[in-house]
Amino acid sequence: MAYDLLGRPLRDLRISVTDNCNFRCTYCMPAEAFPADFPFVKGSQLLTFDEIGRVVEAAVSLGLKKVKLTGGEPLMRSLLPELILELKTRFPSLEVGLITNGLHLKALLHRLVAARLDSVTISIDSLDPDQFSELTGNGHRLETIVEAIEAAHQAFGAVKLNTVLLKGKNDDQIEPLARFFRRPGFRLRFIEFMDVGTLNRWSREQVVTGDEVLARLRALGTLTPVAKHHPGETSERWAWADGQGEVGFINSISRPFCGDCSRVRLGADGRLYTCLFSAVGHDLRTPLRAGADLGEMTALLRTLWTGRSDRYSELRTDGSGKRIEMFAVGG
Ligand code: SAM
Ligand code: SF4
Ligand code: SF4
Repeated sequence: MAYDLLGRPLRDLRISVTDNCNFRCTYCMPAEAFPADFPFVKGSQLLTFDEIGRVVEAAVSLGLKKVKLTGGEPLMRSLLPELILELKTRFPSLEVGLITNGLHLKALLHRLVAARLDSVTISIDSLDPDQFSELTGNGHRLETIVEAIEAAHQAFGAVKLNTVLLKGKNDDQIEPLARFFRRPGFRLRFIEFMDVGTLNRWSREQVVTGDEVLARLRALGTLTPVAKHHPGETSERWAWADGQGEVGFINSISRPFCGDCSRVRLGADGRLYTCLFSAVGHDLRTPLRAGADLGEMTALLRTLWTGRSDRYSELRTDGSGKRIEMFAVGG
């Protein structure tokens, strides 16, 4: 096991398999800042699945328990099921999850199940078709995503949903989303809008806190707290007392959870970030391509993790410092 300077183990790895995306969510990749010709990582700059596998192998030897495939939009790499199958075959006890906007999910679902993907999280910020289309930037149809969610729920038996709330934009969706997904096997998580990167025009006034949401949901029915399944879990979980699913709150602004943060992030270009708010990443692609073996990659990861003291959300400053965008770090 590897522990950082604050005694936190390396437990989770989020892998951004691409920083590109087919959506332009206003809070993540606003269309005006990310035109179609934006220089996303591509071609030989992208880590190959083999290279990703070598980083995972090193992290597993340091105690890694869970990988989450993210981006950008991870399903833009349509061969992703091959990476999942390889990871599940080589590291059977490693939990592998996927977080996606759902656009290509239905088409890839059978291959993802066959690859033994453990869990899927789909982002959905509104049940109002026009609002959904506006928030996701590219005029996508809500119906496609709802169909993908239903299909994933059938295929996996359970799904997590992510909703980012922006005050005055989609906070009218709290009750409609909660009512629609109040069913067994659904876990709807409300995420506080975060000051990730520098391009999403974040302001604290736009944040809808988890406590505000919880208070509104309590008017819909009785909610009982659910104990954390493991330390480092980002979401505060509540179950509907009638057994109809769960809601969760990722209160990264109002109640930061750096204290037991066990997450490291691998960018699409092979840079490793020890915090979502890191200003710099550590280049792993160069040693990987220079032929570093498992022992060397493990030593490198150990050095980076054991030197870590990040707790940005607890220290949150005025936000003026240089930061990497979320799509690059891996959300
Ligand atoms: N494209 C995939 C998706 O949207 O699910 C995966 C990557 S996305 C960066 C991962 C999650 O981060 C999504 O649920 C998204 O809503 C969330 N997210 C993006 N920008 C955010 C922000 N500024 N604050 C809070 N959550 C954010
Ligand atoms: Fe793309 Fe996900 Fe960011 Fe939306 S939140 S722009 S779907 S990466
Ligand atoms: Fe972890 Fe950094 Fe987020 Fe704190 S701010 S929870 S250290 S990723």
